[in-house]
Amino acid sequence: MSVLLNKPIEYLKGVGPIKGELLNKELQIFTVRDLIYSFPFRYIDKTKFTSISEVSQSGEQVLLRAFLVSLKEVKGQKQRRLVGKLKDASGFLEVVWFKGASWVLKNLEEGKEYVVYGRVNVYKGKKSIPHPEMELVSQSKGVKSSLDPVYSSTEKLNNRGLDSAARKRLIKAVFDELDLDEIPESLPEYLAKKLDLVSKKQAIKYIHLPSSLHEVSKATKRLKFEELFYLQLSILYSKRRRQARIKGAMFEKIGDHFNNYYKNHIPFELTGAQKRVVKEIRKDVQTGYQMNRLLQGDVGSGKTMVALLSMLIALDNGFQACMMAPTEILAQQHHQSLSESLKETEIKVAFLSGSIKGKARKVILENLANGELDIIVGTHALIQDPVIFHNLGLAVIDEQHRFGVEQRSKLWKKNEVVAPHILVMTATPIPRTLAMTAYGDLDVSIIDELPPGRKPVKTIHMKESQRYRVIEFMRTELKKGRQVYVVFPLIEESETLDLENLQEGYERLQDIFRQPDFQISVVHGRMKSADKDLEMQRFVEKKTQIMVATTVIEVGVNVPNASIMVIENTERFGLSQLHQLRGRVGRGAEQSYCILMSGLKLSNEGKERIHTMTSTNDGFKIAEADLRLRGPGQIMGKQQSGVMKFQLANLVEDQTLIKSARSIAMRILDHDPTLENEHNEILKKQLKHYFSEHQDWGRIS
Ligand code: ADP
Ligand code: MG
Repeated sequence: MSVLLNKPIEYLKGVGPIKGELLNKELQIFTVRDLIYSFPFRYIDKTKFTSISEVSQSGEQVLLRAFLVSLKEVKGQKQRRLVGKLKDASGFLEVVWFKGASWVLKNLEEGKEYVVYGRVNVYKGKKSIPHPEMELVSQSKGVKSSLDPVYSSTEKLNNRGLDSAARKRLIKAVFDELDLDEIPESLPEYLAKKLDLVSKKQAIKYIHLPSSLHEVSKATKRLKFEELFYLQLSILYSKRRRQARIKGAMFEKIGDHFNNYYKNHIPFELTGAQKRVVKEIRKDVQTGYQMNRLLQGDVGSGKTMVALLSMLIALDNGFQACMMAPTEILAQQHHQSLSESLKETEIKVAFLSGSIKGKARKVILENLANGELDIIVGTHALIQDPVIFHNLGLAVIDEQHRFGVEQRSKLWKKNEVVAPHILVMTATPIPRTLAMTAYGDLDVSIIDELPPGRKPVKTIHMKESQRYRVIEFMRTELKKGRQVYVVFPLIEESETLDLENLQEGYERLQDIFRQPDFQISVVHGRMKSADKDLEMQRFVEKKTQIMVATTVIEVGVNVPNASIMVIENTERFGLSQLHQLRGRVGRGAEQSYCILMSGLKLSNEGKERIHTMTSTNDGFKIAEADLRLRGPGQIMGKQQSGVMKFQLANLVEDQTLIKSARSIAMRILDHDPTLENEHNEILKKQLKHYFSEHQDWGRIS
């Protein structure tokens, strides 16, 4: 036990109780150990100074070495500000503070030479740097390195003089006193050796006090690997433990149900990808372990057929199967298409949702419990308490986004003897590395091939000024008998405004298409679900030709005759949402179109999203772009983001490292499932520690 590392941060020289409490609160730094385990987020290369005359562009980040020739408070029209004048051999430049003046005045001194870092602002030809980081040249020389670490800070910390430079000095002082051997090693030697990783103590030292970029990269590689590796090890370890604990339904054979359907009733030849996935599932369900599989496949890739075949295997082995969808209308569609597919067989299929009541409900529940029913399709009514299965062997969940872990586990309990296998299907591809982390405990199957003969949807970007052309195009297609979706964005915080938009759009369309043959449906989130379903149904039955909607139609509805998707205010939609919406068309034989409407002015990100949409139909490419643009936290939502918080690693940039961390963790567990081997002692210890710190995982698995 290191005395220094365990020391509460307030006892460190130069900290004290007030700053100590701030560090606790703002950065969760409680001990000296926490301080040195909080890494810099970038470095300034101090060998590369810019001279003032070279500074030219707004937004440019520069490092200067200059004298502070004056420092004065200036009264502007609105507010006071503090203005400093910098001078180097090439010229002058201003630095400006709009707040925190007293601290600056106390800490900076006219006439001294500073290392200045900041973002340049050029206004009417005049260059300045607002709120620069400044440090005396003499002081920064004290840190023996040309690379200057920059630590994250907060306004409160800055105001108390605990900015990045002060952090750096604290850390420097700690390293002066610290015996490096007090930093315990956290990876087994054989791993470090094999992967050519520096030791933990070296890494920690290099990351704070590097003398070259080479050292920074050695340190980050080691520390990133460690972060990713322990995450993977913990995921895979829990998964194995779960498998060992939970017995799964055993599907030993392929029997009459499957064979009869496959030989006599299947309406098309499976794509190669569908065949492969059916094999993967088949392999899973005959191990005696519970399957937890995520099936990813773009909209229209034919996931339902894979689900159906899997359910038939369950029936062949004397089990029941169920299929759950997030909305009533989707569940109904699944029920209809399954019943249609199975109408020439003996298999009994039923539907259950909250809207099935009274006698009908009672009969279904009875038949489910006594084993009369083979397959039940429904909403999450299926996982509620009164629903008892005779012998549930497989549960298929369509569109996983709406089903959390909790609901998944409710399903497991629907069979008290053996756990039913779980197949989660999603049409929103998740980038591989994200799937490995956020859904690391699921096995993943991918359908990466569309059935033959599909005409890819043509996607076009149109500006407001071209609306007339869009309307004419809609009219032409409507006259050919096609149907059209027009989708408006819905953002929670301005729901009223959005509804007005939608209402306006609806009235405008009514004015334009005021002909008896073109009827318009409206569906939005504020409507009662029975009303929504009714409107949807009218559109499905071609009683209406235009569907004006918010994103409620995003999920799964199938209207093959709809061939045009017009998206209004495209810039306000996320990429995966756009991709989902586009998936509503292109389901029939006709050429389909997706028209992305936008205003004239677009942010860079908005442009990139639109560009991505017009240049590819590949859901995985879109998911990757989405991950790049929005980051993992936004994509997965709060629930999963806990497991994706890394200090150094990055799900976008470190894909190779993630894959290697996962495969190494897998190999280690293959050879030593309980980590009993002596050379894995460190792993076991670290893992225990990891589990105690990351309760999210305990919960998820
Ligand atoms: P999704 O993966 O979006 O759920 P579906 O399962 O609804 O896709 O399939 C979309 C359409 O493609 C359906 O009409 C289905 O019958 C058809 N389909 C599925 N697989 C094939 C195939 N191998 N060959 C031809 N059509 C197929
Ligand atoms: Mg589907």
